[in-house]
Amino acid sequence: DVLFAAHWSDDEQSTFFVIHDMTAFKQAERLRQEVMAMVTHDLRSPLNTITNVLGFIKSGKHGQLDARGLDYVESANRNSQRMLNLINDLLDVERIKAGMMELDLGQVSVDECLSALELSTRGLAEEAGIKIEFKSAPIVVYADEEKLDRVLINLVSNAIKFSPADGEVLVRVARDNDSVRFSVMDHGVGISIANQQKLFRLFQQVDSTDARPKGGTGLGLAISKALVEQHGGRIGVDSQEGQGSIFWFTIPLPTISFARE
Ligand code: ADP
Repeated sequence: DVLFAAHWSDDEQSTFFVIHDMTAFKQAERLRQEVMAMVTHDLRSPLNTITNVLGFIKSGKHGQLDARGLDYVESANRNSQRMLNLINDLLDVERIKAGMMELDLGQVSVDECLSALELSTRGLAEEAGIKIEFKSAPIVVYADEEKLDRVLINLVSNAIKFSPADGEVLVRVARDNDSVRFSVMDHGVGISIANQQKLFRLFQQVDSTDARPKGGTGLGLAISKALVEQHGGRIGVDSQEGQGSIFWFTIPLPTISFARE
């Protein structure tokens, strides 16, 4: 495999030819694709089955377990779900890199979106002893609802994860000129200025002097950034170490132009 380029130079009155040997690059690329195909078929599918079966056993429909048995099954279920999340995130990263993550755009009511968010994060918040408040706005955005949910769930679960017990999280949506601004505020560990930009890159996690909350892959914010930017929006964080953080993103509002007669 070679990459061939020719360039005419007026100054030199000559044509320059550059030939790159791309064999190793192409081989690495093929290997990467094979690994991703393997991850999809040979890891994700069986893991899906395992997770579902553990879910059935946990439900008690096929016989009751004693307390210790239930603990084991719950732990196995939680861990297989984490592996599944990691695999799905990795596949999304690949899709985004290949420009194959497509948006299914439509009108999305911000109010309904936040109600759904409240439902899906309630359990997590209760478990961590965190109070979440939602301040919505009667706005309709043009977005991919599922991807929007995903970004919000990621920001809210991070806010919960990095807050102390008894902490408070505020999710707020407001119109900001020609876009809608979503923000998630916590009073948790906060992030130093030096680390703030790094977080949106793949596999970035920040060490702090505190005991690090467990879990996480360092992919969530990178995926969120790609999804927000695909909508034409921006994402960022305002934070001070030890003072909590505000993660925010914008979704542009469609500009309506009226034709004059
Ligand atoms: P994950 O949470 O899976 O590690 P993310 O990409 O969502 O991956 O986040 C990357 C890192 O950003 C986290 O590991 C953490 O160090 C930092 N971070 C994200 N949200 C917060 C937050 N609300 N407060 C403090 N640190 C955060």
